[in-house]
Amino acid sequence: MQHIELLNEINDVMDTYCKGCFLKSHFRRTYGKNYAHRFCIQNCTVGQELQEIGRVLTNKEQH
Ligand code: SF4
Repeated sequence: MQHIELLNEINDVMDTYCKGCFLKSHFRRTYGKNYAHRFCIQNCTVGQELQEIGRVLTNKEQH
């Protein structure tokens, strides 16, 4: 996948699932930003997918 397609993919996923996510706003309010972020990448499949796309992007930038 091209760089731009990966960025679009991230935007699409975030728009679809993360925008207005109840869990994220709840955890942010209750436990803070770091906890909410950790929850996203450790406990949510959407967050894990975003992280994976981010990893591919980073690898592309380095090569
Ligand atoms: S990664 Fe999951 S928990 Fe985090 S904001 Fe997106 S949908 Fe919500």
